[in-house]
Amino acid sequence: MGISRDIKKMFASFASETDKAMDRYTSFRVGGPADLLVLPQTREEIIALVTTAQKAGLPVTVIGGGTNVLVTDKGIRGLVIVLTRLKGQIEQTSPGMNPEPKSPDPQTSNRVCLTALAGERLGSVCRHAGNLNLTGLEWAAGIPGTIGGAVMMNAGSFGSDMSQIVSEIEVLDLTTLKTAVLPASGLEFSYRKLVLENGIILKVRLGLVKTDTGTVTEEFYRNLKTKQSTQPVSQASAGCYFKNPPGFKSAGFLIEQAGMKNARCNDAMVSDLHANFIINQGNACASDILNLADQVKKSVYEKFGINLKEEVKTIGN
Ligand SMILES: Cc1cc2nc3c(=O)[nH]c(=O)nc-3n(C[C@H](O)[C@H](O)[C@H](O)COP(=O)(O)OP(=O)(O)OC[C@H]3O[C@@H](n4cnc5c(N)ncnc54)[C@H](O)[C@@H]3O)c2cc1C
Repeated sequence: MGISRDIKKMFASFASETDKAMDRYTSFRVGGPADLLVLPQTREEIIALVTTAQKAGLPVTVIGGGTNVLVTDKGIRGLVIVLTRLKGQIEQTSPGMNPEPKSPDPQTSNRVCLTALAGERLGSVCRHAGNLNLTGLEWAAGIPGTIGGAVMMNAGSFGSDMSQIVSEIEVLDLTTLKTAVLPASGLEFSYRKLVLENGIILKVRLGLVKTDTGTVTEEFYRNLKTKQSTQPVSQASAGCYFKNPPGFKSAGFLIEQAGMKNARCNDAMVSDLHANFIINQGNACASDILNLADQVKKSVYEKFGINLKEEVKTIGN
């Protein structure tokens, strides 16, 4: 474990930290050390970091708000880039859309784009949209994490998701070290997934619609209230642990019916408010969460013959 002095020297110009415990950077509040961890503030810094990692032969792991990941107890080898400081002004870039609308019909002429750096909090983008009376993001109320992470996970709620509003993204290819702007038409989204091999999302452009009804913020807070009353939002978790299986009731329903509400492994526990949330009651480690998740899967399989698939991404050794 750990990296050599020579490699440390290569990263001397970055504000890097070694053997940094990852629990601070994940909403589960668990995770062993990252060999080398950096929180870059600019796109240029990210490109320089990735270039240096490539020269040093280090694997690169990217994390946004860490709200959908479980970092193992042994931690992450190589370079970890945490993107929460990659933010700036959220720009309103109306009326451009990609693709540009062919005719200024009433629907498209109300369109407005918001562009944010990938580390911007999704909540900040939602509030910004509300202040400008831009509709399209109200469903995202209460989803923590960054806008880049939300695109990568195709985060969704209340019947909508990021794929509905992403106009384009700027991506750094980790192999060629080149950046490219990818329009929505070239992106492959599916349930809680964007297909993006070996790339870092640097910037996101959303297409929203200007409204004069003044109800955007109202709707946002209504959704937030629903979330707060149905999910254990104040406890350490990574949101829904499992994907809802296609064609069946929600994973939470299946887990509850399998009798797993309140099941625990040390300080990891299945929430009694929402059975698809595994929560860290304080001193859980990643292996407790993984063991409990395994028990949940087994119980659901035994009762329903359904194999739940993880929505939370396990990262590390
Ligand atoms: C209380 C709570 C409620 C939640 N509710 C919801 C919900 O209603 N709906 C929902 O969909 N999710 C929900 N989540 C899960 C999570 O918040 C979302 O998936 C969120 O969008 C993840 O963003 P993040 O920045 O934290 O991503 P991270 O957890 O940091 O990363 C997720 C994945 O994306 C990759 N990644 C992150 N940023 C980038 C980037 N810029 N470029 C390339 N790859 C990147 C990471 O490598 C990782 O594989 C909830 C989580 C919690 C804790």
